[in-house]
Amino acid sequence: MNDTLGRPLRNLRLSVTDRCNLRCEYCMPEEDYVWLPREDVLQFEEISALADVFVSLGVDKIRLTGGEPLLRRDVAALVRMIAAKPGLNDLALTTNGVLLADQIDALKAAGLQRITVSLDTLHAERFKSLTRFDQLDAVHAGIAAAHRAFGRLKIDTVVIRGVNDDELVALIEYGRAVNGEIRFIEYMDVGGASRWSPDRVVSRRDILEALTRRYGAIVQVDEPGSSAPADRYALADGTTFGIIASTTDPFCRTCDRSRLTADGMWYLCLYATRGLDLRAPLRAGMAAAELRGLIGKGWGARDDRGAEDRVALGDRRAFVPVQDLLRKDPHLEMHTRGG
Ligand code: SAM
Ligand code: SF4
Ligand code: SF4
Repeated sequence: MNDTLGRPLRNLRLSVTDRCNLRCEYCMPEEDYVWLPREDVLQFEEISALADVFVSLGVDKIRLTGGEPLLRRDVAALVRMIAAKPGLNDLALTTNGVLLADQIDALKAAGLQRITVSLDTLHAERFKSLTRFDQLDAVHAGIAAAHRAFGRLKIDTVVIRGVNDDELVALIEYGRAVNGEIRFIEYMDVGGASRWSPDRVVSRRDILEALTRRYGAIVQVDEPGSSAPADRYALADGTTFGIIASTTDPFCRTCDRSRLTADGMWYLCLYATRGLDLRAPLRAGMAAAELRGLIGKGWGARDDRGAEDRVALGDRRAFVPVQDLLRKDPHLEMHTRGG
């Protein structure tokens, strides 16, 4: 199942809630949000039915996300339903880690294969000002629990100039201690990340320069045919890390990812302003074969290259003005479409 640019439908990010227990400055900076109506949020059985259709069309990697996915009651039950699908090769979850320590054993027992924890700073005060909550210790406990249960994990860090760009080395060292591969993410201008401005972006080049100053020569790890967003690098001692250069050097040409929001809107690109409503046909009783046709047709017509289009813009500002965004369509927010 290829789109108009020959990109296969393989990777699905499933957002299970638009709610979050943190308020990261780059993701949910506002005081008030318009939440998805509760009755619109898909039940686990509905998510599972849609996942079946996606898997039948070639999706073999699913990542659960949010908002904060661990806020969704008994998310391990959903993991169990999805993990059982024949044809699925990879089931992962991205979390802010706050509730992870309590849930890790249930997630693992349910069949979760991989875990990514987002962590932007190792300083408690900085964590508090960045996320509005004093929860760094809980995140550390979550990471320790993930290390114990899975042996290894990934740690995603959004790098922001003047906020945490002095912590690149400290984060690499922290990652070594917990067997966590750090992935540095360039600050993106998606949704209502209204605090975004070009000068706050720390580029891949800046990140590599800073790490080279400390560690010496860094080599890129070759991963032929990979559609993963992160380019991987190795330090001289073999420690690996990733950089997701979505802002300065996007990877749209190999992008096989689409996103399903908690209320069943399907987005073909992180920057897409319109999605396809799968909830309405599902709830109206559309048969799986027809849903398959609908989704297949949507993917077949896909020509999105949102991040590349953004690079081509001369004067780049936040994607959608926040006043319009929050009042009119919460789907445009990063925390709704799952990052
Ligand atoms: N709440 C979970 C978490 O933080 O891991 C999952 C959802 S969050 C939207 C998924 C990822 O998107 C996180 O790693 C977060 O750092 C990233 N993200 C959110 N806003 C971003 C932005 N403006 N630029 C780059 N990454 C962003
Ligand atoms: Fe932060 Fe994730 Fe919540 Fe966004 S969804 S505010 S990135 S914890
Ligand atoms: Fe894929 Fe859109 Fe992101 Fe490009 S901007 S990598 S097409 S999701």
